Amino acid sequence: MPRPMVAIVGRPNVGKSSLFNRIIGKRHAVVDPTPGVTRDRVMLPVQWNSREFLLVDTGGLVPRSTDVMELRIADQVQMALDEADVVVFLADVQTGVTDLDQDVARELRKSTMPSLLIVNKVDAEQWETDQHTFHALGLGAPIPVSAMSGRNIGDMLDRIVEELPPEETSDKDPDSIRIAVLGRPNVGKSSLVNSLVGSEKLVVDDVPGTTRDTTDTPIEFGGERYTLIDTAGLRRGKAIRKTSDAIEYYSTLRTINAIERCDVGVVLIDAIEHLVKQDIDVIDQVRHSGKATVLAVNKWDAVPGKDDGTAGTFVRELWRRFPDGSYLPVSFISALTGQRTTRVLEDVNAAHERWTSKLPTHKLNEWLSGLSRTKSLPSSKRGVPKLYYVTQVSSKPPTFLFFANNPLFISDQAKRYLERMLRQEFDFMGTPVKLHFRRK
Ligand code: GDP
Ligand code: GDP
Repeated sequence: MPRPMVAIVGRPNVGKSSLFNRIIGKRHAVVDPTPGVTRDRVMLPVQWNSREFLLVDTGGLVPRSTDVMELRIADQVQMALDEADVVVFLADVQTGVTDLDQDVARELRKSTMPSLLIVNKVDAEQWETDQHTFHALGLGAPIPVSAMSGRNIGDMLDRIVEELPPEETSDKDPDSIRIAVLGRPNVGKSSLVNSLVGSEKLVVDDVPGTTRDTTDTPIEFGGERYTLIDTAGLRRGKAIRKTSDAIEYYSTLRTINAIERCDVGVVLIDAIEHLVKQDIDVIDQVRHSGKATVLAVNKWDAVPGKDDGTAGTFVRELWRRFPDGSYLPVSFISALTGQRTTRVLEDVNAAHERWTSKLPTHKLNEWLSGLSRTKSLPSSKRGVPKLYYVTQVSSKPPTFLFFANNPLFISDQAKRYLERMLRQEFDFMGTPVKLHFRRK
């Protein structure tokens, strides 16, 4: 179930990161604070009143190197209006209403997107009256908060939850595997999508009885249905966006959105440039969202002097640079010529199978007792860990609950060891796994 996205916009220094930190500190509000996208902390999954949403600081998505503040704000607001479900406009009571605030308010008033005006730094009574000047922005009654003291933060979260779209109750096409094609600009994402959609082997059909999302493309291959999720204007509107230097960050929110909506992320890597830091960031983003991942090395046609060993060398270098990724399937493709592009779909299918799989409890416990017999878990400073029993509590991704003498005795090293052993025994190619521990 994709989580709705709530985007915070606002000038620098109004307190956006402080608000994030305040929400993180709020008990029961945070699900799993993983470092969002690539820079700082810009994305926070929040659970409040039994709803879950992603809070995104669009200010953090806009590169700091751009000095023109007006431009940055305009970009933030545009991104938010394009991609989010709710826009939260954060202002600063202590500086009062500025020209930039008025510009933002004008854009928000023009849009039909639900928006909330939050006025920060209302630390004490004395600021209560000043907050009313923000009525002039024409966005309804401002919600006063103080990120510093925590004042009114719960009420603010209540109001945000009220604005969320209703929960989707059913999948549009539950049998279709949802794919997000991801990667750096120019790595060949649209070429791959076009190659798959244009390929004669694949039947593009409108699934009967469902309303098709206009930007998503259903395809069929080998008797399996897939849906290609539109990312960063893969099929349309691309030319406009590629003209500005906003390219990279402009697509970031849409990437987050696509990852939310997918089952499997296909991350493309440039065969000539090999794996770069940005690729790893994307892979980590998919993994942190708990989705399956497959890799495809694109532009393989352009690699000079290939022989039988070239692919193997490429893969060895890949895992040398990124050992954590070695559970991911890799294929070598050319989106340009269409060579082996359907191999990607086979990998997606296989990864999806593991992602949804459920292991019987007796098999898991046979494995665990065998493991305990051969080698004891690495100890922590706190004590010697003992594991009694394990069961798989959910899938998508496979999630395991271990019963232990004391969960605090399980060090990070022990967790990594367990995951490695689990992967060695059972085939989890392409899927992340989650391990939880509870006291027996
Ligand atoms: P951002 O640029 O919008 O992310 O703003 P920051 O979160 O970095 O905050 C900018 C400055 O405002 C910092 O010095 C914060 O300590 C301060 N600040 C943030 N929230 C509050 C608040 O509720 N009250 C007061 N008095 N200061 C705040
Ligand atoms: P995107 O920005 O990730 O969507 O990348 P595009 O699909 O627009 O491709 C960027 C450039 O790389 C275009 O000039 C493509 O023709 C080229 N390209 C894409 N795939 C391949 C490939 O498999 N081989 C070669 N040689 N060029 C490719």
